[in-house]
Amino acid sequence: MPETQETVLEINLDALGHNYRYLTSKIRPETKVLAVVKAFGYGSDAVAVAEELAQLGASYFGVAYTSEGLVLRKGGINTPILVLHPLPANFDLVVQSCLEPSIYSEKMLDGFIAYAEKNNLKEYPIHLKFNTGLNRLGFSENDVATISEKIKATNAVTVRSVFSHLAASEDLSEKNYTEGQLEKFRSISEAISQLLGYRPMRHTLNTSGIINFPESQYEMVRTGIGLYGFGNNVSENANLRPIATLKTVISQLHEIQEGESVGYNRAFKAPRRMRTATLPIGHTDGISRAYGNGTGWVTIKGKKAALVGNVCMDMIMVDVTDIPCIEGDEVIVFGEKATAEALSRAIGSIPYELLTAISQRIKRVICRK
Ligand SMILES: *Cc1c(COP(=O)(O)O)cnc(C)c1O
Repeated sequence: MPETQETVLEINLDALGHNYRYLTSKIRPETKVLAVVKAFGYGSDAVAVAEELAQLGASYFGVAYTSEGLVLRKGGINTPILVLHPLPANFDLVVQSCLEPSIYSEKMLDGFIAYAEKNNLKEYPIHLKFNTGLNRLGFSENDVATISEKIKATNAVTVRSVFSHLAASEDLSEKNYTEGQLEKFRSISEAISQLLGYRPMRHTLNTSGIINFPESQYEMVRTGIGLYGFGNNVSENANLRPIATLKTVISQLHEIQEGESVGYNRAFKAPRRMRTATLPIGHTDGISRAYGNGTGWVTIKGKKAALVGNVCMDMIMVDVTDIPCIEGDEVIVFGEKATAEALSRAIGSIPYELLTAISQRIKRVICRK
């Protein structure tokens, strides 16, 4: 019997535990960990991963949107959840599910305070997001005095944390820029604490920040990609274990004669007699068309099989001319050895994109090994 009956994404909780322990070995024992589980836990299984991380000791979870926080609450996660990018239209949902909003603009702050006062909330935890150079979301340093006044004038909210996000923490050739961001963050968080009269938690490091700038860990760090097994450089990748393995099976084998074509648009023409395997996974599932025509590969019996022709919606064809295999054999698209990092690099992408693109059509299977 073939091991795999269909295309599945295996999520290895033992590998997750390894990564959690590795990353926390880089920080002080008292520093809190906010585990980022946005985008379905970087394409894995947000609830399963969050349950395991809560056991391992994560103090906070981070999601991008309110709806992702609701999924965690429905899945039974009781740990505090920071919503990194809530929209004012969802304040009701945020509060009903005890989610904690990141507040990144004055309009949002006014809106949330008004909402909190109207609903008689007392000291509802909010998190202030500052832009220190990514130029994406966040207050600027100039806003510190105004927003502190507004917050001091109400007892409906309390600032649980002050945070910022680094633009290039993985790139040591941008070390000066990062240090500039960190310095700005230090002075902003100091000013906020002075003006508020209390000390919110501070956090500004993502995975590569933990690895490259641990001296700025403050009270909490936010890690995403590292938990899933990637460290944004060769040596850190070697210390981490990818938690997701995308597996499929050979549906059918074909003998192709020299000069025959394979797939849509006849994009591939066989230069010699060859054998192809058709696999039940396609661009719907997150395998971009950019992997077609020899750019991407899968692993069968430990050997690389290159993609032949264009990626179809639900299928790909690969070259197995030199790989002894039969229909039903297991195929690894990416995993611990043939990694999502290596595959994504073939199209100039990053594991973040490949992992989060894996469609919800593919069943997630939790394992420990
Ligand atoms: C996604 C995200 C993170 C996690 O970053 P990694 O590089 O995956 O560790 C941290 N902070 C914010 C604000 C994010 O959006």
